[in-house]
Amino acid sequence: MFLFNLVVFDVGHGTMVLLERNSQGMLYDLGPSYFERFNYVDSVLLPFSQKKNLSIEYLILSHDDKDHTGGLDAFLKSSLSESIQSGNNVLEAPLCPNNAVQLENGLRLTPLWPRSSHKMIGDNNNSCVVLVEYHNYRVLLAGDIEKEVENHLLGNKLKKTDVLLVPHHGSKTSSSHSFINHVKPKYAIFSRAFYNPWRIPHPQVVSRYIAAGATILDTALDGDIKITFYENEIRVEKARDVRAWWFYDN
Ligand SMILES: [Zn+2]
Repeated sequence: MFLFNLVVFDVGHGTMVLLERNSQGMLYDLGPSYFERFNYVDSVLLPFSQKKNLSIEYLILSHDDKDHTGGLDAFLKSSLSESIQSGNNVLEAPLCPNNAVQLENGLRLTPLWPRSSHKMIGDNNNSCVVLVEYHNYRVLLAGDIEKEVENHLLGNKLKKTDVLLVPHHGSKTSSSHSFINHVKPKYAIFSRAFYNPWRIPHPQVVSRYIAAGATILDTALDGDIKITFYENEIRVEKARDVRAWWFYDN
């Protein structure tokens, strides 16, 4: 039995993630924009949502860096913003729920970070970290946090997850051994650009996830990644593996 979909869009360096069930979606970040002319909301998300007859119920903007919020203006101008639930004030970044949110589509969002008791310096370490749960499944969206915040989260009884959006695109400043061993993801997803000046993901970071038993998924190599959760199994589709791209399927 189908439960829900997770789509990690290939937006180059940046993040744009959709979780969808019953044609109702939740977005985590909106990708970068370039030269005030190009963004992934207009070019990818809008046609994708129209094709799937998808409405967006909730938006999270992990932190106010342009690789995560570049599409915000386009989102606000688009029809996508019309179905956002009240209380989800989408006008500016960062945008993180204060408390757990039960979406109409059944998904449950639990914000793990930031905490008012631990104000950090810099945008990355104040990223909104969210645990998404449905049925027995867990997806952890970790923004651009670094090891210092990972250590704080360990004390929060971080649970094993099925899918982890790897913190900070796979940078070596994140993904400590202890974080990985607590989260123990079945799938570790790197959202990043193929050629990037930061040399991410760092090879040691990738090795750490492999050593922990994770299957690596990488938007730079795989293109868009779609993970479908069924009652008894998880299926992965990669845009570059399929001749007829799943985008055009019904
Ligand atoms: Zn980033």
